[in-house]
Amino acid sequence: MLGPHARPFVDAALVAALVAALVAAGCTAGSSSSPGPSRAMSVVATTTVFADLVARVGGERVSVSSLVPKGGEVHTFDPTPSKATRVAEADLLVMNGLGLDDWLGRLVTDSGARATILVLGEDLPGARYIEGEEGTQRNPHLWLDVSYAEGYVARIRDALKAADPAGGTTYDANAEAYAGRLRELDTWAKSTMQAIPVDARRVIAFHDALPYFARAYGLEIVGLILPAPGQDPSAGYVASLIDEIRRTGVRVTLSEVQFSPALARTIATETGGTLVSDFYSDTLGDPPVDSYEGLIRWDVERIAAALR
Ligand SMILES: [Zn+2]
Repeated sequence: MLGPHARPFVDAALVAALVAALVAAGCTAGSSSSPGPSRAMSVVATTTVFADLVARVGGERVSVSSLVPKGGEVHTFDPTPSKATRVAEADLLVMNGLGLDDWLGRLVTDSGARATILVLGEDLPGARYIEGEEGTQRNPHLWLDVSYAEGYVARIRDALKAADPAGGTTYDANAEAYAGRLRELDTWAKSTMQAIPVDARRVIAFHDALPYFARAYGLEIVGLILPAPGQDPSAGYVASLIDEIRRTGVRVTLSEVQFSPALARTIATETGGTLVSDFYSDTLGDPPVDSYEGLIRWDVERIAAALR
């Protein structure tokens, strides 16, 4: 059970083995005591964004990690075998669903994991879904509308409480405080975007990540550089996109950190527009974009600066 990587903790392992032996021999020390300090609940999320939301609600009671590393691409992610071990050992698995991170299902099957899987994006109460890219029924990027991220947080709270009832009051308090911060963030994002003239609030997005963000904060997505994740645009597609940019006069092109900016840069140069090369959608990054709140602040500020 304990591999060579556990060697520095050999004393703890010996104690655990000794306790296990005592329990096996019927020498329990009483039903109210537990063998050593209780371990943090292990939560494994598909992306850094969801991992951050879990950390905000779970606090010190959870140890959370992301399968896709920061800066990684979730749609086309190909998990290595080492990820299966982490999935197998998790107490709770957290994913978005709606085609974003379906590869987790294969990982669960391959690893024999039996943890509960929390699906944040499917049938989210109160959500008005927007049609997705080719091949998906509904666009999965709900979290980029902060009010929907608040729905994710409620689901995370409920799942943590179910998995760890002893932490119920902690999870309730953390979720309530965090939801309050998200409501302030939502109000700030709306007022910042509304300060920009309506006609100017138009962009070319990189992939189809922004329909919920656009609807919530009053932005028009005039075109996409990637027709679908993992699908390079053809020369004909790029040519018609450039025509569309010239025809509509849209000035700002967004490139996202998990994709190469080369094509977006070419398109922005070709059309004389502004390129925002460090936009965040599906992944967190280095500070100040190392949290979900940081991501939203960064994106709104980058868009507002480019559109002004
Ligand atoms: Zn995406």
